[in-house]
Amino acid sequence: MSDSATSDQTTLVPGRECGACNVCCVALTIDDPELQKVQGYRCKNMLPDKGCAIYATRPDTCRRFFCGWRQLKWVPETLRPDISGVLVRLHYEVSQTKGTKKLGVMVTLLTDAALKAEGLAETIGAAVAADIPVFLHVPGPPGYTAAEARMNDVLRNAVLTRDKAALLEILRRARAKARAGKFKPVVLTRR
Ligand code: SF4
Ligand code: SF4
Repeated sequence: MSDSATSDQTTLVPGRECGACNVCCVALTIDDPELQKVQGYRCKNMLPDKGCAIYATRPDTCRRFFCGWRQLKWVPETLRPDISGVLVRLHYEVSQTKGTKKLGVMVTLLTDAALKAEGLAETIGAAVAADIPVFLHVPGPPGYTAAEARMNDVLRNAVLTRDKAALLEILRRARAKARAGKFKPVVLTRR
């Protein structure tokens, strides 16, 4: 949701701007009364230069959305989504038993090359070490739903032993397994 973010809400990391990035205008499913699109397809309002044709009047969903790279200082500069292929989103984990919410992150590796992004393993490792819930999000083909899995437990040993190669291999396998699974078409409800 490119262009400089005007911030009517969230705390943003100083010095980071969307600039030429428009990853969220493609990667997200938006089911807003004013705009419906499914993940994996470019929004119809995207301009050839990656700007937004309706920026001044864009829907609330677009106005409110900022990825983790824009919001979290501990997500490094190198994980800018359009450069790294890594989309980090804030994601609340809700406890069914206690009814509490804990802030975590949802990480989408948009391409195979994303696994080689500088700082990916270190960032995920630091989150796991800090007991921040980390979810791997694996979108199906464009227009289809995604698979998600909490990764903290499966990554813990690699984090404790500081084994970066093992951590990345676990992510690679989890992503490959999820991508081989079955996905359903996204159903939009605001049409
Ligand atoms: S309306 Fe604009 S900001 Fe929203 S998804 Fe489309 S191009 Fe991006
Ligand atoms: S993915 Fe993040 S950096 Fe890229 S356009 Fe969206 S909010 Fe901006």
